[in-house]
Amino acid sequence: MEYRRLGRTGLKLSALSYGAWVTFGRQVGRKQAVELLAMARDHGVNFFDNAETYAAGDAERVMGKALKDLDWPRDSYCVSSKVYFGAVEHPAPTQRGLSRKHVREACDQALKRLKVDYLDLYFCHRPDEDTPVEETVFAMDTLIRQGKVLYWGTSEWPAERIRQAHEIARAHHLHAPSMEQPQYNLLHRERVEDEYASLYKDFGMGTTIWSPLASGLLTGKYRDGVPDDSRLNLPGYEWLREAVMEDPQRLQKANAVADLAQELGMPPAQFALAWCLKNPHVSTVMLGASKPAQLKENLEAMALVERLEASVMQRVEAILRG
Ligand code: NDP
Repeated sequence: MEYRRLGRTGLKLSALSYGAWVTFGRQVGRKQAVELLAMARDHGVNFFDNAETYAAGDAERVMGKALKDLDWPRDSYCVSSKVYFGAVEHPAPTQRGLSRKHVREACDQALKRLKVDYLDLYFCHRPDEDTPVEETVFAMDTLIRQGKVLYWGTSEWPAERIRQAHEIARAHHLHAPSMEQPQYNLLHRERVEDEYASLYKDFGMGTTIWSPLASGLLTGKYRDGVPDDSRLNLPGYEWLREAVMEDPQRLQKANAVADLAQELGMPPAQFALAWCLKNPHVSTVMLGASKPAQLKENLEAMALVERLEASVMQRVEAILRG
């Protein structure tokens, strides 16, 4: 496994990490979680991603119990949570957003569910138009000073808002955001590659990227329809199925990249993950996997990075631009 600095911080995260969205608390219970987390760690993974809203808090509950069962030294792994959407299905106005009140409560609740004393990474899961950025920056700084959080960051914030957070932090001598959690994959590139370009240069921003396989689309497995055991068939995820399957041009590009991978003798999932790893602004590629066989396959993507040479990258560009 390769370890990369989280932007300009001193924290080194495994280039491949493992997240809990949809899976933990929904497709995966405590016993399977132990198996999946142990497999990831055996391959060198040291960062596990979570959020208050995943399975309405159950993803953190399941991960917390599994981490307790595994009993790894706390200084040997990192765990995250995110605040914004709330941890219950119908949050009251004070139970969501990025107000000082919810940021504080959400952090305390995540610590309890995950059964840890501090969060290594804590993200503002989306921008909150109803809370001044200043209030959120002060609230995050307080959590760091209290020792409840080590590094704070954002997820899917516009570049301008991240810049604003830095300016506020600088003016008041507060801890500034260290990382952003954006979507990044072969089919979704603009924000990471263009919009954020100046933030890497000016602030040394790190990135923990999500949906590297575009919810499984880049494995080529939806070519002949959605398999029965896919997350796209779960009740409540009709929106995801629509988002993944609705655009025929996108499907065609995903299948063309999968064909190229196969032609070169590389499994499409590993090819798509290795393509993300090639980007030096990616601190860690967060894997999603609901089954041990998927996780095992994905964890082996590292080996392919050096095989994606310039000529291969050019062929990929030609497909994506086509
Ligand atoms: P992916 O794009 O990798 O999608 C994961 C899904 O793809 C799996 O659950 C599985 O679907 C399928 N899959 C994965 N590997 C394989 C394989 N080798 N062969 C076949 N199918 C495969 O990642 P996610 O969208 O899950 O995102 C990863 C993590 O990022 C999340 O767990 C979460 O921590 C984070 N995230 C953050 C967001 C944010 O807003 N900050 C938003 C979304 C995710 P199936 O289970 O159907 O078989």
